[in-house]
Amino acid sequence: MKRSFFGFIKPKLTYEPITDSQPEPVYIQAPQKIRFLLDTPEASDGVPALSVGDQVKMGQRIRADADGGDYALASKAGKVTEIAPFIGMMQAKQTAVTVAVDAEASQTADDEFKEKSQNPSLDVARQFLQALPGKPDFSPFFNSDRLIKAIVILGLDRDLLSTTNQFFVKTGIESIKTGIDILRKITGIHNVMLAVPESLVQVAGASGAGVKTVDSEYPAAHPQLIVRHVMADEIKGGGDAGNADVAFFSAEAVSAMGAAFNTGQLPMNKLVTLISKSGNKRLVCATIGTPLKDILNRFNETIQDGDRIVFGGPMTGVAVYTTEHPIQPDTDTIMIQDRSQIPERQDVACINCGECVRVCPVNIPVNILVRLLAADQYEEAVSQAELDACIECGLCDYVCEARIPIFQYITLAKTTLERMKAEESNA
Ligand code: SF4
Ligand code: SF4
Repeated sequence: MKRSFFGFIKPKLTYEPITDSQPEPVYIQAPQKIRFLLDTPEASDGVPALSVGDQVKMGQRIRADADGGDYALASKAGKVTEIAPFIGMMQAKQTAVTVAVDAEASQTADDEFKEKSQNPSLDVARQFLQALPGKPDFSPFFNSDRLIKAIVILGLDRDLLSTTNQFFVKTGIESIKTGIDILRKITGIHNVMLAVPESLVQVAGASGAGVKTVDSEYPAAHPQLIVRHVMADEIKGGGDAGNADVAFFSAEAVSAMGAAFNTGQLPMNKLVTLISKSGNKRLVCATIGTPLKDILNRFNETIQDGDRIVFGGPMTGVAVYTTEHPIQPDTDTIMIQDRSQIPERQDVACINCGECVRVCPVNIPVNILVRLLAADQYEEAVSQAELDACIECGLCDYVCEARIPIFQYITLAKTTLERMKAEESNA
């Protein structure tokens, strides 16, 4: 990846193509303990749905709150040993549920889904499958303000360096096809597209979906840019990314969905692209909930003071503070950075070089935005500098001459505004 030498040339960052020499994923041994992070509803009265000492079955839904809300799927059977509040990304209120795995009981699957899988429907999918690998999101189909007319399956990853979803297209097109058939059946939507890089167009043709080629230049694989640039002809109003009538799923999620309805069993293994301190990339297959340290131990990767662990890719990933952090259903990439490789960040004033404005794919006046965000003027950032239009690609942050942490300012502002809205509606 190269930065431009002259200020007026945009940097060209390209997605990692999967190659024929891609090694098979390394399977990580079943963990002794698994951990789930669940969003705690703002209005929660703090009554957990489980207690320490409870037994959970494999496939059982684990909820943080007895009144419903977010759930995880127990990827192994065992006994709950800890339920504790957890501060997640951007100070999100979460609950961490830890389960000591009972190897003897691991085959005791919860049978509720098996029975329901005989009659696939969107309701069943939402009730049982939203914590599958790839974290399929069925909520757009239940939003009365949206009428979904097309489904796009992302056969490539949204961030750089990762090949998780390309691997599914390259090696598992049959299971993606099964997932597509089921998606069509439960949604009634027949306009399904598989978006892939040029190198996977041929194999993607066997999916039964329409195939769309996505440009190799970052951030072309961002869903809103796919709607705008790749799907515009198929979807009426496709130019309006904010109101697009398209639902997105990752190739991994569709593959897992197909396997779940086909077999009555819930897939529990997550494929992750692991990038080590030395820059080596490999695909790793681990049980959802596995603590990161189990994976690091497998590869003898050690973490020293000042090193950084990033969940996500180099442009949009977020640092985590403990090797106990678990693999989540949507963890596509994990990067370990040596402290000597971490670029120095500063909190200095903008020098108005204009690089961020030139690079922004949705033409936001980022130089104005950053001033408002630095002054905590979040509502003004929405009304005067189009904060809502930001697709969170991180390019402005990457090119900033003053090394201002713009991406962090943006994500902090967006999560703070969302939290304020939720608090207002609860009140
Ligand atoms: S993160 Fe947002 S503001 Fe920055 S370049 Fe991307 S879309 Fe534009
Ligand atoms: S925010 Fe950074 S990149 Fe944008 S104008 Fe200011 S110094 Fe330049």
